[in-house]
Amino acid sequence: MTPAIVILGQGSLATARSIQQVYPGAQIHGLAGRVEGADQTYSEFGATLRQLYQQGTPIIALCAAGIVIRTLAALLLEKGEEPAVLAVAEDGSAVVPLLGGLGGVNGMAREIAAALGVAAAITTSGELRFGTCLLNPPQGYQLADLELGKRFVSDLLAGEQVRIEGAAPWLEQANLAQDQQARLSIHVGSAERVPAANELLIYPKNTWVACRPGAELASRVRQALQQDGIAVQSLACLLADDADMASGQLQEAALELGVPLRFTTLAAGPDIVIHGAAAPVDLAQLGRPRGRLAVIGLGPGAAELMVPAVKAELARCTDVLGYETYVRMAGPFRADQVQHCTDNREEMQRARHAFELAAQGRSVVVVSSGDPGVFAMAAAVLEALHESSDPAWQRVELEILPGVSASLATAAQAGAPLGHDFCVMSLSDNLKPWSIIEKRLDLACQADLALAFYNPISRSRPWQLGRALEIVAQHRNAATPVVLGRDIGRPGQTLRTLTLGQLTPDQVDMRTMVLIGSSTTCAFPRLGGGEWVYTPRWYGEKPLS
Ligand code: SAH
Repeated sequence: MTPAIVILGQGSLATARSIQQVYPGAQIHGLAGRVEGADQTYSEFGATLRQLYQQGTPIIALCAAGIVIRTLAALLLEKGEEPAVLAVAEDGSAVVPLLGGLGGVNGMAREIAAALGVAAAITTSGELRFGTCLLNPPQGYQLADLELGKRFVSDLLAGEQVRIEGAAPWLEQANLAQDQQARLSIHVGSAERVPAANELLIYPKNTWVACRPGAELASRVRQALQQDGIAVQSLACLLADDADMASGQLQEAALELGVPLRFTTLAAGPDIVIHGAAAPVDLAQLGRPRGRLAVIGLGPGAAELMVPAVKAELARCTDVLGYETYVRMAGPFRADQVQHCTDNREEMQRARHAFELAAQGRSVVVVSSGDPGVFAMAAAVLEALHESSDPAWQRVELEILPGVSASLATAAQAGAPLGHDFCVMSLSDNLKPWSIIEKRLDLACQADLALAFYNPISRSRPWQLGRALEIVAQHRNAATPVVLGRDIGRPGQTLRTLTLGQLTPDQVDMRTMVLIGSSTTCAFPRLGGGEWVYTPRWYGEKPLS
């Protein structure tokens, strides 16, 4: 997993950038107000560090080891999987691995120390003696039992010799006193066995099962492995036919077995076929994953208003598509994530491109500002899918992830102007006739709904807003509260409250959200300047409270 580099002051940025060279995807998190030019800012050190830790993100903190320990102390009692946590001196003169021995913290400390030209402060005795953490075999291998393993390592540290059974290429460099007659052994193999007290058992993930969907698939795979005497820990993945990509039974089985699903064109044959290789399976060489397409909403702009599911999607995706401004807003991205920026108008083309990429097995994100379902990409993506007869497109895992829409972000800043029934309209007549806009507007006004106008005006649509306001004025009086939110949640945002009588089209541009009250919407001064605007929850006569 990509680490996070957390810094508290400007003086650490240079060291942080050197560490970033070692982990190109890692983001530098800088304290707001203290650090200029970090990749991300945070306002509270403790909360940020604890959140990263709880998410399992490896942490490289450029500050005193004591600060890191104190900050995470309360979380340390919860035993479980622990990410690597390191403290690095601000000037890069010391690298101290603190936590996460099994998460490879010592290896990271060595990598960082090498980049900074210093020695890592390794204190783990096994690691010092053997030059590797025996309990943390490399990717593609799995330790059978951690507790037995710890006892094994302490025996080894007491000075015993060891024999290696099976292929353990990563131990060739290790400092182990080997002897074929030794009592202790490190056993690497996929055969199912109960680890003996004097052995460190490690399973290579060298087995895959080609299968077709069916009931109880996970337990049938387990049984088949058992019959062949293969440990389930050696299972690297399930391999299925492309046509079964969307099968829920396959997904369930993979989840239950804790392995990824890969797809290819399977030759006809039995429902379950076990395959094995000598070395761990390289997943990149075995079929491809089911493609994924997520249409996400970034919210108005501010990072705090982006929902966590969207952040997670941006972190996992391989490809990002969207209008350049939004792609930039969604970043920064890692070097391995491909950005496909397009013009704002090419929505259908972008939607089709997204499906083409996802159908190849990639994990694609299409970005919209605000909510993707509000005058944005979600409908275009679904239209593209609806029109397509390509089975590969149908099999893509499609998800729409919501965001805070501009009308809601603007309303929240003004108070609660949309606190009762309201109507959302786009004033753009690019994709619908102007006459229908006039008709809907007239009816919405007749219904006394509060109004939210998206796309209120642009250079190519200069007169439409003026005409729309004429229609509104036929139904609402001049004192009706109006809210104008421009670039809400973005740098330089402005919020104005005024009245319908004061509103003219020249106060509005394409980056503005226009909210117009209903007959019950009211406004009152707020302490510190400006006004609160709200539409009461009731209509007609105020209920007794
Ligand atoms: N999907 C977006 C809307 C896209 S339509 C959403 O849910 O917010 C584009 C229009 O949205 C703009 O013309 C403007 O009227 C409004 N808009 C989008 N972002 C805005 C922001 N940050 N502040 C004010 N208005 C915004």
